[in-house]
This record gives sequence, C-alpha cells and structure tokens, in this order.
Amino acid sequence: MPPPQLTNPIKTIQGVRVPNSKSTWDITVAYSADSPQGTISSITPHQPPSQDSTQFPLLLPSLTHPHIHIDKAFIHGAPEHAHLLPVTGSFQEALSFTTQAKGQFALPALTKRGEWLLAESVASGVTAMRAFVEVDRAVQTTCLDAGGILKEKWKDACEIQIVCFAQDPIFSGMHGEENRGLMEKGILTRHTDVIGTTPYVESDIHSAKMNIDWAIDRAMHLGLHVDFHLDYNLDHNKEPLVWYVLKRLREKGWTSQLGKRVMLGHCSRLTLFSSVEWERLAREIREGDLPVSFVGLPTSDLYMASPPPGEGAGARAPHEKQRGTLQVPEMIRKYALDAVMGVNNVGNAFTPWGSPDPLSLACLGVGVYQTGTQADAELLYECVSTRARAAIGLPIRTSSGSDLTLKQGDRPDFLLFYNLDDTGCELSRVRGSVAEVVWDPPARLSRAVACNGRLMVKPMAEMRSQSCPGSNLGYI
Ligand SMILES: [Zn+2]
Repeated sequence: MPPPQLTNPIKTIQGVRVPNSKSTWDITVAYSADSPQGTISSITPHQPPSQDSTQFPLLLPSLTHPHIHIDKAFIHGAPEHAHLLPVTGSFQEALSFTTQAKGQFALPALTKRGEWLLAESVASGVTAMRAFVEVDRAVQTTCLDAGGILKEKWKDACEIQIVCFAQDPIFSGMHGEENRGLMEKGILTRHTDVIGTTPYVESDIHSAKMNIDWAIDRAMHLGLHVDFHLDYNLDHNKEPLVWYVLKRLREKGWTSQLGKRVMLGHCSRLTLFSSVEWERLAREIREGDLPVSFVGLPTSDLYMASPPPGEGAGARAPHEKQRGTLQVPEMIRKYALDAVMGVNNVGNAFTPWGSPDPLSLACLGVGVYQTGTQADAELLYECVSTRARAAIGLPIRTSSGSDLTLKQGDRPDFLLFYNLDDTGCELSRVRGSVAEVVWDPPARLSRAVACNGRLMVKPMAEMRSQSCPGSNLGYI
C-alpha cells in the first residue's frame, strides 16, 4: 500500500487563470521555518503577457469532504461482501446487509477500501476530510484503528479528521450499554477529533435525547467537535430534534468562543419546516452564538429519504414519491445559516450510486436546488471547498474566507484545471469559469492537486503536460 506520491514543494507557477479575471497570473510560494507548508508569497501578471488566456489552467482552492463514511466505502466492490449486493434496495435491507458486512470487517480490508476512497478523493482534489468510523459491538474499535492508520499514512496529502461514530443505539436496544461503553473508550483515543452519534436510531425519543446529551457533554469535556446524524425523516408527526440540540447547547454554554463546532447532518425533516420555523432556527443559532453548521447529503437523501409509505387509501402512488434534502443555497442566502454539502456514502447499500468526487456533488446541486446562475455555481463550489473546510472547524487557508480567488498569504492548497484532450480528437473544450467546472466537472486526469505546495503525482500527468500548453511549474 504505497502512500500517494508527492512532488517536491512548488516554488513558482507561471501562467494560471483565476475566477472572474481575463488576465493570466504568475504565482510564487515561499517556505520558511514559520510556514514549512508554504504560503503564496506573490501573485503577479504573467510575463510575457498572453494573447489567449484560455490555454492556461484555472486555479481554484482545493476540495473538502465535510462528511464521509470511510469504513463503509465500497463495500459493494469488495469480494468478501459480494453476497450482500442489494436485492430489494430498501432502507431496511441496507441496514441489515451493512450490519452483516460489518460482522466481517477486518483491519486489512478496511484500510484497503479506505485507501480506494482516499486515492480517488485526493485525485479529485480533496485535501481535507471529516471521516466517520463506526464503533460498536459488531466492529469494536477495528474501524477506528483503521481510521488512525489512514490518518497517519495520508497526512501529507490529506488532513483527515476522525469521527468516533455511534451508528447504532447507545441508550436503547439490547446492546446500547455495550455500544456506549465502547464509544467511551473510542473517544479517548488520540486519533479522535469528533464525537458522532445517530440519535434517530434510538428506540424512543427519551433515549434519543440522552444520546444527544451524552455526545454534547463528552465533546465539551474532551474539547472535541460533535456531529449528529439528525432528523433523518420526512414525517410531520415526528418531533424535530434540532430544537433539543440547540436548547442543550445554550444550556451548556457551547458558543463559538469554545473553538469547537457542531455539525448536523441529513436533517431531511427540516425540509417540512415553514418559513416561520426556518426563521426561528436561524434566530436561535445567531442569538445564541452557536457554532452550528448543517451538511446536506443529497446523494443519500435522494436515494433513501422518503415519506412514510402510508396504507390503504393513504398509500402513495409511485409518482407521488416525495424526496427531501436540505436546500443548502437557500439556507445560506435566505437565512444566513452555515450549510455545506457532503458525499456521505459511496459504493454501499445506503448509497450505491455516485463517486467520491465532491465536484460531482456540486454538479448534482445545480439540479437538485434548481440553481443555475454563475453565482450559484460558485456558491456550490464553496460548499464542497472553502465553506466545507470552515464548517468542520479546520483552519481556513484563504485570507478572504470562502472566496474562490487565492491570494497572497494563502496556503498553497489548490487545484489546477487543465484543458485536457481526453477524446483523442485533438480537441479540448475550455472550461473558462467556476460555473463551467461545476456544471460539467472535468475528468480527474485534467486536475492537478496540490496539498501544502506539493503536487500529487498522477500516472498520466506526463500526457497532461504534453497536451496542455500553458502553465509552467518550478519546484524547490
Ligand atoms: Zn452519514
């Protein structure tokens, strides 16, 4: 299992495009004892000035997975789980098959599947991620151990935050207490950055609230982030637990001053909120100075989240099958909430479709959220890049917050999108803007990915440099 190969640190990049500018630019990166990972020290007009800027690659900030299950990735591609491919495709079957698969999880296979996910993610442009690893009676701490190994091994290419995650009940059911005991142990390991739980799997509302209290208490005590899979239903009759989470944060005094964040994932029940409820939600978060972010997980929500089927005369016809997923751009713009997008699952019974590429998720967002302007596309890119990084509580690497134009003083974590001809027809369509990148994400091969100033070496990069004129990279 070789780690990703990285080049020497980049010193200069000659000839790149940046968003919303027709000019081309040269970039220098400086390294020092204070900043061994590098800082962009200058961005100056490209010399000599170019008549045709379209031949140069587009420079954008790197991508982030704010929510991804690294231990359950690609179960469908693993021979040992070949008997667990979906038969009905139902949520119940997904739960049952995944539980069976978890019974077979072993460290070598976990790290192998995790590396498939890491390799494809990093090659897509991901340099930071929040990775969930489950801890419970079935897997004990094997997934957490695998997460720790991968975090260490891939640290030069990708900053991995580990979520010690209770997918199963910890306050109800036959194994609640045992699961909680294992979580108590798991959250103390040195690799754990985040405590994650799933209040909705508890058998009753009282246990769900105890689950929330436990996670908030422990996270505050240990100085960790907390991340809930919350309100994953489209049922008007179910109490949304988001109110309880906010209430407990206020009572405990968890404000943004603490420096640790709270993430709420799925939350499809919130799509049934009235605008009065949305306004209340935004107000409670704002007035309480609560460091709460939301992560929409549309590939899973579209596949799995559906309203209760109903019976008899209340049964729904297939064409009435509703879907619900957080309306991320609207939450940001209309309610000033902090919201981002995550891939969640790939290659398993919960989400058999989709890839680990965050740009394919941003692309899906154009349709799901019905957001077709250039400004919309830029916002969607931010939701899988700069905003996602901030939402998981990692230090921002750009001087201007979520903005997509890298500037002097920023960390050299970026993507270069080349106009690669992958058709063999000696034609390459220029993607001149962020919008064109989001609307039709370019192939992985046409992306060069830098983490801390070092490029990930790709096998066919040679082909790219031959077929893409323009930018010239200089190394230390
Ligand atoms: Zn999840």
